[in-house]
Amino acid sequence: MSMNPESHESLEDSARLSGWEPDVWIELSQGALAHNVALFRSLLAPGCRFMAVVKANAYGHGMVPIAQAALAAGADWLGVFHAGEGLTLRAQGVTAPILVLGPTPPESMRQAVDAGLCLTVASPGAADALVRVCAGQTGARAHLKVETGTHRQGFDAAQLINAAQQLVAAGIAVEGLYTHYADIEDTTDHTYAESQLARFSELRAQLAAEGVSVPLSHTACTAAAILFPATHFDMVRVGIGLYGLWPSKETRVSAGMLGRDQIALRPVMTWKTRIRQIKTVPAGSYIGYGRTFRTTHDSRVAILPVGYADGYDRHFSSRAHVLVRGVRAPVLGRICMNLTMIDVTDIVDAAPGDEVVLLGQSGDEAIQAADLGSLAGTIHYEIVTRAAPCAPRRWVP
Ligand SMILES: *Cc1c(COP(=O)(O)O)cnc(C)c1O
Repeated sequence: MSMNPESHESLEDSARLSGWEPDVWIELSQGALAHNVALFRSLLAPGCRFMAVVKANAYGHGMVPIAQAALAAGADWLGVFHAGEGLTLRAQGVTAPILVLGPTPPESMRQAVDAGLCLTVASPGAADALVRVCAGQTGARAHLKVETGTHRQGFDAAQLINAAQQLVAAGIAVEGLYTHYADIEDTTDHTYAESQLARFSELRAQLAAEGVSVPLSHTACTAAAILFPATHFDMVRVGIGLYGLWPSKETRVSAGMLGRDQIALRPVMTWKTRIRQIKTVPAGSYIGYGRTFRTTHDSRVAILPVGYADGYDRHFSSRAHVLVRGVRAPVLGRICMNLTMIDVTDIVDAAPGDEVVLLGQSGDEAIQAADLGSLAGTIHYEIVTRAAPCAPRRWVP
């Protein structure tokens, strides 16, 4: 059998067409997404653009459906990391402006420009390459990223002015000027972010003094968009908040101190599986690999067809809970590659075929991405981004 991606896709489609029910799937709430876009819009001055950041498969939610829905809900721009993601969106008929946030290698620049993607230019080498690639042709759009203190991507002052002048002389539209904060989510002390903002404003003024006026300045990620209107300029770039998640506890506390904690984000993702089997095991039984868990009473153990291969992190072993019929059920023992065991002793109605919520709401209970992040020693950004990459995404109201 050929292993090209096309045949793989058609295989999946035919499985779906014949009524094959997936073991693991992700539901995306259309209402939550639209609510979040509207909420951010309400924080922005008229004319300020809203970029939906859909890199990393829309933080695991599904790039194409999220991009389309975010635009339908009122987003103006899309942000991706790789030019290839932008090409995929174009191939799906997305005509909105798209900014590639990552570096585009010279050999991909022509195709990216032809697809109307706006490219981040953040180094003298990238500026040289774009000028070379675009020689004698128009249509390229560049956003210059400046160094203000994150020391990841970005021009210093001298490089910035050189690059801007070089691009303008080559007929390339210098459409945007931007930066990214190093320490705005992880603290309630925003003096470093303020110093970055001040540095950005300085660089922007220097560029203007050299006669380069750039239509779109942008610096704000979700935390900045919520906390500091002074960071908004002409556009905000919202990722985590679009998906209904606060960037961090610290951002929430900071919002409270600023009187902005009435902001009610609604999580978009619900990650689900089903009980495939229930067995009764006597007190004193070991559950799973390594015998790390032993029952203390006769127990009803449900078997779930999900594991670390699906991004259900092995650090959740004996620590996480899932929701069955709106009730929390603990994970028993080690998460396996494709299987997880849970305790449903006290959920007397639980039965094979029941839906199980791994992440999200069921009844009055919710499993929060942030809590799963803590269990796995990471952040919720990583939990959702790595959720079930191969599972189908389905819209729900
Ligand atoms: C990912 C990213 C964002 C979005 O950040 P959130 O905290 O998820 O809102 C914004 N800007 C840049 C440059 C990014 O890489």
